[in-house]
Amino acid sequence: MRPIRARISAGAMAHNLRVAREHAGDARVFAVVKANAYGHGLSRARRAFAAADGFAVLTLEEAANLRLMGVEQPILLLEGIFGADEIAACAELDLWPVLHHAEQLEWLARTPPARPLQVFVKFDSGMHRLGFPLARHAEVIARVRALPGVAGMTLMTHFAQADETAGADWQLRPFMTALETHAALPWSCANSAALLRYPAARGAWVRPGIMLYGASPFADRRATECGLRPAMELTSELIAVHALEPGEGVGYGQLFRASQAMRVGVVACGYADGYPRHAPTGTPIAVAGCLTRTLGRVSMDMLCVDLSGCPEATVGSPVELWGGIVPVDAVAAAAGTVGYELLCALAARVPVEDVD
Ligand SMILES: *Cc1c(COP(=O)(O)O)cnc(C)c1O
Repeated sequence: MRPIRARISAGAMAHNLRVAREHAGDARVFAVVKANAYGHGLSRARRAFAAADGFAVLTLEEAANLRLMGVEQPILLLEGIFGADEIAACAELDLWPVLHHAEQLEWLARTPPARPLQVFVKFDSGMHRLGFPLARHAEVIARVRALPGVAGMTLMTHFAQADETAGADWQLRPFMTALETHAALPWSCANSAALLRYPAARGAWVRPGIMLYGASPFADRRATECGLRPAMELTSELIAVHALEPGEGVGYGQLFRASQAMRVGVVACGYADGYPRHAPTGTPIAVAGCLTRTLGRVSMDMLCVDLSGCPEATVGSPVELWGGIVPVDAVAAAAGTVGYELLCALAARVPVEDVD
């Protein structure tokens, strides 16, 4: 059997939820489990995050699956309904849609749900992606309040730079000013970065995602420095080992050439497993516990590693692509992306094992 495995720890996920809760103070915590729980599996996430106050997903299908699995907590639909035909299911399954554009209000007005819904009204405080313009808060809130299909509302916004030096304050300040007019309404702003860095952004509900999986939302701060434990390890083995003479190249394009005699290993993992093809020579990787680097171009099913510093390594030696030794964020940084993308892109052909 091909030796590649994703080993996922529900214990680490539960630990990371406890870290999120410590930062949340009195706020309630939605565990964000969109994109198949960032690649970790919805049903595993449902078990690992049983202590969450709610779950946040993207689609009705994910929400319905959570209900089938027995989830009784609130479920937030992060982009709300995509058509009036989804309103009935929201009432039936007790889902909380985000309302972020005028058409959604129209749909609710024309197709009222069988029972009134809890909704999140999203305002655009500067990201310019989803949300009603913040300047129109009074008018929008009055319209939502007048809808017979709405039982209650929470106000919401999303940060564009909570993970960067520009921070969250430039968006939080105008949002809080607008909130003063509606002081009785609960609100929700914080993703992982804001939850970890901006206690003032907590509100009634926080919405951590990436931190629950043990990756860092920050480019300049490791997950372990935030007290988080990586939940996913991507492991495989060496399936070949050979020697290179000076001047000989490795792999497609011969992008890496040996300047001296060296040993090279071939790992059963490629971009069809979800490993980033853009990871250049030098991307960190561990062979038999020894930290080393990739060599040359990643191919579909294989990649090559430098065994110069790993004399013990041989065919069958264990390899960690990312996990406890090599943070997924370090691989992502080398490949010019973020840990989020690598976790979500884990390929369906990779067998997943539960480690606890
Ligand atoms: C995905 C998402 C989150 C979670 O963000 P992380 O950076 O993974 O913590 C929070 N809020 C909204 C609206 C989202 O779409």
